[in-house]
Amino acid sequence: MSRRTANRTRVIRALRERGPLSRRELAGIGLSRSTVTAVVDELVGAGLVTEAGGPARGAGRPAQLISLSPALGVAVGVEIANGVVRAAVCDLSRRLLAHDAVAVDERTGPEETLVVVAELVDRLLGGRSRDDVLGVGIAIPGPIQRGTGRNGRATTLKPWVDVNPYVTAAEALKLPIAVDNDANLAAVAEATWGAARGLRDVAYVYSAAGIGVGFILNGSLYAGANGTAGELGHTTIDENGEICECGGRGCLNTLANAASISLNLRRSHGRELSIAEVITLARGGDLGCRRVIADAGRHIGLAAANLYNLLDPELIVLGGNLAPAGEILLGPLRESMARRAIHAGEVLPPFIVGELDQDVVVVLGAAAVVLRDDERFPLPDR
Ligand SMILES: [Zn+2]
Repeated sequence: MSRRTANRTRVIRALRERGPLSRRELAGIGLSRSTVTAVVDELVGAGLVTEAGGPARGAGRPAQLISLSPALGVAVGVEIANGVVRAAVCDLSRRLLAHDAVAVDERTGPEETLVVVAELVDRLLGGRSRDDVLGVGIAIPGPIQRGTGRNGRATTLKPWVDVNPYVTAAEALKLPIAVDNDANLAAVAEATWGAARGLRDVAYVYSAAGIGVGFILNGSLYAGANGTAGELGHTTIDENGEICECGGRGCLNTLANAASISLNLRRSHGRELSIAEVITLARGGDLGCRRVIADAGRHIGLAAANLYNLLDPELIVLGGNLAPAGEILLGPLRESMARRAIHAGEVLPPFIVGELDQDVVVVLGAAAVVLRDDERFPLPDR
């Protein structure tokens, strides 16, 4: 590779990994100002990047930002969840172009689900063809075993247990694929566009059917030796508690996930409420609903204190179906966490609701994995 080609590749990789950058920021990757000027001018001439005014930063005039050209292609993010599939299309300048969701029966098998995914993706591509797609990131609930690439039995998506989603999706969609679990990808989304931008050590607590954590440690996603890192929902809160679907007893999921919150209200409210209904009622002042959400917050706070004591993240972000509860959950959560966390004379990390819309946070993260990785999802040859 000539030096010129190598410098072009470095600039493109920096724009893929970090998003739009000023010329000064590009010089920060270890190129001289004159090299940056030469490479950027060449890339602008070739139509690979565009330069435009970005948002104002500080007091100075807004810096001109270099972005990859939206015409180069798109990244697709897909979420396969319980009862629903979602998808989003983003261009290489990191703009969200389209997104939507389709309901599917929870018992639907992987092949049939992927037919629905393919139709949804083709619809969201609009006038584009699949040739414009650099890759598809796919989010699956629960851990993916690192050795086999299969979904473990702990996944809440029962028809996918023991299935290799990477192989199955690559065959069905005929596109380059990346697969990861939903909590990890939501963490990537907040690190790309939201509350965790620019941070190196972040825990993203994601509540769907169960509660999982996506870890960004030292600036990279951390999956663990077997791919099961972050299964916060299966940490023991009550040794004598109810049996969890993992076979354990008194796991956080048996006390604080959406289903167990709703179950607590069956006697008082006469039927099983959805978690969205519970949160709406709590916001309206319903005491029972406020109480079960606060209790869930206290249990999550206990688990989060252990997480903090072990890993010391600089920020903890809450996302998923419990996030709309906001301070009704987070107040008791922080109190419970503070009681158990080591302080060592320092303040605890902020525990906040994520900045991104809960409907798109996971699919955005799935698309971001493709957008950010120039090695696995290279630009088309020009
Ligand atoms: Zn469990």
